[in-house]
Amino acid sequence: MQTIYLDNNATTPLLHEVKEVVIEYLDKFANPSSIYQIAKENKKAVEKARQSAADMINANSKCITFTSCGSESNNMALRGVAKKLRNEGKHIISTVIEHPSVIETLKDLQKEGFEVDFLPVSQDGVVSVTDFKNAIKPTTILATVMLANNETGVIQPIKELTKIAHKHNIIFHTDAVQAIGKINVDVNELGVDLLSVSGHKLYAPKGIGLLYIKEETPMEPFITGGGQEFGRRAGTENVAYIAALGKACELTTRNLNQMSKIKSLRNSFETKLLELFPKGKINGTKAERLPNTISFALNEIVGEDLLLKLAEKGILFSSTAACKAGSKEPSYVLSAMGLSASMAHSTIRLSLGVQTLESDIANALHAFAEV
Ligand code: PLP
Repeated sequence: MQTIYLDNNATTPLLHEVKEVVIEYLDKFANPSSIYQIAKENKKAVEKARQSAADMINANSKCITFTSCGSESNNMALRGVAKKLRNEGKHIISTVIEHPSVIETLKDLQKEGFEVDFLPVSQDGVVSVTDFKNAIKPTTILATVMLANNETGVIQPIKELTKIAHKHNIIFHTDAVQAIGKINVDVNELGVDLLSVSGHKLYAPKGIGLLYIKEETPMEPFITGGGQEFGRRAGTENVAYIAALGKACELTTRNLNQMSKIKSLRNSFETKLLELFPKGKINGTKAERLPNTISFALNEIVGEDLLLKLAEKGILFSSTAACKAGSKEPSYVLSAMGLSASMAHSTIRLSLGVQTLESDIANALHAFAEV
């Protein structure tokens, strides 16, 4: 059976160029901190990857810290700043639609005495700039708002939010895990102080990520120890995966060049889905969205039921965020956008990748029609 993979927001396949780098460096086992030649070569590979990652987001390479995943990057950013600035204020602003690695970290910080405002979103899934402005207090030290949502692909007005935050001396973090490789991400243009990236959402392996940390951002180290990663995150570097992430970052420009094609495939897929399911509704259509994501409320059909039937035919996608799959609760992101529990349960998420072909969409639609 042919598999058509339409779940690229859950994870992406390895690009073959990236896989080659992993294989090459798995055998190059030397510790990059050692001083003999083979170790120096590994150190060089780590620094080359750091430069590629920095180039991808228009940053200085010293601002890149490699981590084990997007969740770690989010934890590192939020806990690191909160810990450092706890004597200057304890108020943090976020939104109700963040990834659990942000929400759960903030809940943890609440237990430690921090006060967190989780801002609502509109019916199209966008946070209000006015709400953000109004939430600011003299004690606000940190704000964290995702760049693009994993379930709906809806993009947040980060540029406007960072301008306001900086007028009030607030450190601004964005979770860009879903946005990287799908839209152009430039840390200077966005004006962020911290930005999280995950390898497995951009065709690199799972278990590698990075955090962009603007120069002089006040934060405590996340893992103390041998002083690797500028003393911010100790632990012997995972050279093979870091080099692989570097390669994936290099290839991001090529991937971005494919996004207009992906977007037109996505748009025609949406039009045809609406013809097949006339009672259906696309979530977040009035907002700016990632070019690859479809969040489709089927209405009167349970999303997970359809998903399982299509999986039998080799068409793979999600009914919600991958980390919440199988949950009996309706998606908190869709609920925050005002969808009823039944509409949220009827929603499926289809996410295209750079490998998606026109014929994949045609075959998927054929399977949808059959089911
Ligand atoms: N942030 C967002 C928006 C995500 O979609 C995900 C993964 O689904 C993460 C963070 C976590 O990334 P990782 O799986 O690398 O921990």
